[in-house]
Amino acid sequence: MNCRLCLEPRALCESHIVPEFLFRPGYDERHRLLKIRRDVGEAGHIKKGIREPLLCSECEAALNTQFEQPVHRLLYDPPLIPSVVTSERFLLSGLDYATFKLFHLSILWRASVARHELFRHVQLGPYEEVVRGMLRSRTPGPARQFQIFGSVLVRTSERLLCDGVITQAIVTRLNSGPRVYWMVFGGACWNYVVGSHPLPEAFPYSLSEAGTMELAVTDILDLKPFSKFMSEIRRPE
Ligand SMILES: [Zn+2]
Repeated sequence: MNCRLCLEPRALCESHIVPEFLFRPGYDERHRLLKIRRDVGEAGHIKKGIREPLLCSECEAALNTQFEQPVHRLLYDPPLIPSVVTSERFLLSGLDYATFKLFHLSILWRASVARHELFRHVQLGPYEEVVRGMLRSRTPGPARQFQIFGSVLVRTSERLLCDGVITQAIVTRLNSGPRVYWMVFGGACWNYVVGSHPLPEAFPYSLSEAGTMELAVTDILDLKPFSKFMSEIRRPE
């Protein structure tokens, strides 16, 4: 098998699709996390060890040092999003646009090439090769190409951050236009717009080249596509 990223015939690692730090809560947060998991039901289960033989060790290390380590520091050292979020919106600023965007695209791309059930709806088709090239050349492209927006996810009246929750990835269509992939990790739902017709330029909430991104703050059970999905999977056999 060839590495999916560099395409070279090399021994493959068991690669994470979503980096593990994004669903590994701090020990002191276990109690809070269990409470959230009871509320969100099966969809909120933490899926540890979602790995597949995808990448050679060089590509694995490249994604790790170029994208994952900087974003890990950004999100958790110290924690960027507080464990209780009372505001209606949450502004991320001072982001390194290229690193943050390519980090997200690397997860979306891995979800597309992976076979795991959790990511079966993520199929980038011809865009898979486009993103692979962007990752290889470390080219983030303009903000309107593969736009990224998202929501901080909270739960209960205490508005506890849903960190440590990961769900199945889903896809919707925007007005029969581009596809929007929804992935939950790192305490947020991330939306990726994939298609040749991006959202209007005026759309204010997507990741900007200036390194800002304004996230809505949403109760995880109010997240429309997921609430439908969650009620479906909760239905007794
Ligand atoms: Zn490789």
